[in-house]
Amino acid sequence: MDKKVLIADQINEKGIDELKDIAEVVPNFTISNEELLKVIKDFDAIIVRSRTKVTREVIEASDKLKIIARAGVGVDNVDVQAATERGIMVINAPESTSITVAEHTMGLILALSRKIAIADSSVKSGKWEKGRFMGIELNGKTLGVIGMGRIGSQVVTRSKAFGMDTIVYDPYITKKTASELGVTVVDLETLIKESDVMTIHVPLTPETKYLISKPQFEMMKENAFIVNCARGGIINEDDLYDALSTDEIRGAGLDVFENEPPKNSKLLELDNVVLTPHIAASTSEAQRDAAIIVANEIKKVFKG
Ligand code: NAD
Repeated sequence: MDKKVLIADQINEKGIDELKDIAEVVPNFTISNEELLKVIKDFDAIIVRSRTKVTREVIEASDKLKIIARAGVGVDNVDVQAATERGIMVINAPESTSITVAEHTMGLILALSRKIAIADSSVKSGKWEKGRFMGIELNGKTLGVIGMGRIGSQVVTRSKAFGMDTIVYDPYITKKTASELGVTVVDLETLIKESDVMTIHVPLTPETKYLISKPQFEMMKENAFIVNCARGGIINEDDLYDALSTDEIRGAGLDVFENEPPKNSKLLELDNVVLTPHIAASTSEAQRDAAIIVANEIKKVFKG
């Protein structure tokens, strides 16, 4: 076999198996940056997850590298510009985690509506406070989805099973797509004013930075929840804290933060938030699919 693939971060075994019949696979899940700089010239492809940074220096030290594969969604840890200049393909597996993230989103919505996290810590502390945890039903409530892409669409499908009415804000989807998905598209202000639960599924861009800040919290229903499993920085966290601590809104579920981990965040003091450590994409199924998808892409490139 004349092709060599370096697997620089731990990926699912199924992805590694896919490659074995077409290339010499070299797993080295603890490779340091210095070591990588020395060995990269021997490889035709490299697979990473989040640990390994494929910097300009690494790319310039390569010789026959054709593909940089990220077994996951973003390519934040790859210098795409440097790769493009050298004609190296950068691939990822954006569809691999959509269902997983949508399920986590539903998990946060349920945790908020039924106060599951706080009830859990109460029971574990020896209490039996049945009167303290009155929840709300999702049935008949309005879910506002900001960003109707891969994940947003999966959230919509799941919300229908809970009997929720769904409205969507996404300036980039067509009327045809919206009607195929059976959703009503509205402007952002309408979505904010009408949603009982708002969930964010847009990328972080200059346009979406602090998309939800003080003016938006002021427009939200008093009893509304907000959930963010997209990227930190789309919600202004100081304004969110003010809205939550003055009961302007009912609660928030966050998987992502402007600074991760959110060590000194005032949000950590509040009872009406449910926080998870950027794990919305962390299921074995999503990681397996990501590994298989990038392995198959590499195979296609090697086969020409
Ligand atoms: P996607 O590209 O399929 O969908 C994004 C949607 O947002 C698109 O339909 C686009 O038209 C829309 N959009 C873009 N700018 C907008 C704006 N200003 N206003 C409204 N809509 C806008 O992406 P996806 O795969 O669904 O992922 C969505 C987000 O989830 C991304 O930010 C991604 O980084 C994040 N994500 C987080 C995790 C996690 O671990 N928490 C995992 C995977 C993805």
